[in-house]
Amino acid sequence: MAPHIVILGAGTGGTLTANRLRKELPEAHVTVVDQDDVHVYQPGLLFVPFGLARPEDIVRPRGAQLHRGVEYHQSEIDLVDVEQRRVFLADGMMLNYDVLVVATGCRLVPEETEGLIGRGWTRNTFTFYDLNGATALARALEGFDGGRLVVNVVDMPIKCPVAPLEFCLLADWYFAERGIRDEPFDEVSGEIFILVWVVFVTDNRIWLTVCKRPVRTASIFTSRMSAVMFWKRYCRC
Ligand SMILES: Cc1cc2nc3c(=O)[nH]c(=O)nc-3n(C[C@H](O)[C@H](O)[C@H](O)COP(=O)(O)OP(=O)(O)OC[C@H]3O[C@@H](n4cnc5c(N)ncnc54)[C@H](O)[C@@H]3O)c2cc1C
Repeated sequence: MAPHIVILGAGTGGTLTANRLRKELPEAHVTVVDQDDVHVYQPGLLFVPFGLARPEDIVRPRGAQLHRGVEYHQSEIDLVDVEQRRVFLADGMMLNYDVLVVATGCRLVPEETEGLIGRGWTRNTFTFYDLNGATALARALEGFDGGRLVVNVVDMPIKCPVAPLEFCLLADWYFAERGIRDEPFDEVSGEIFILVWVVFVTDNRIWLTVCKRPVRTASIFTSRMSAVMFWKRYCRC
């Protein structure tokens, strides 16, 4: 009998795994489960705040990403019974499996940073790490004509540690294009603070590019420690 492979989660991980398995094991029956039908190309979220991508450009139905022959089922996952090799779904369905792939990703927890989701949340404090946040930030930046922009990197782990640096470079370009970024370190143009310890997991060439731009960085204790580690790792020669 054809093996049944069940993949939990139809994000990038689950989708790529399903399509690859479909190709490599054409005899297998592959079922993918996700709770919604909104596949967001997450790296594209970086471009939404600056009007370089519209939300509809980076969103597709999940089934449209899966190769023919891969079965898609939309439901919340309720329970995995590893002993009996079966998955119970919130819609009442039960799936038996021979192989289970868990690709349920991670979720944002801004409430774990004290004060972050206070009164300013989605008004003048945003995340660009999900679609609602990136869209709200795009609206806010459209009406932003001067002041200070602070890019704060919360405690690790974060999705895509290099994204804050990319965001800074894009913001630098965006404000320059709009004529409100002409004076380096001008307090009333788009001044940017970055907590830099993100640099350890990035390519240091990106960091060197940031250093050449009028971007100011602010450090906290951990980032000062990190700066020392950075120096030891990349600059001692
Ligand atoms: C701004 C930004 C920029 C990025 N840039 C890059 C980049 O340049 N390069 C790069 O490699 N990566 C980048 N990433 C990271 C990359 O996008 C993510 O690592 C990747 O999309 C994660 O895919 P995933 O499949 O593991 O998780 P997800 O995409 O989160 O998928 C998990 C899925 O599981 C589903 N799920 C979870 N729990 C349940 C449940 N109980 N029931 C049913 N379904 C459930 C969810 O609905 C979701 O669809 C970036 C991320 C962001 C946010």
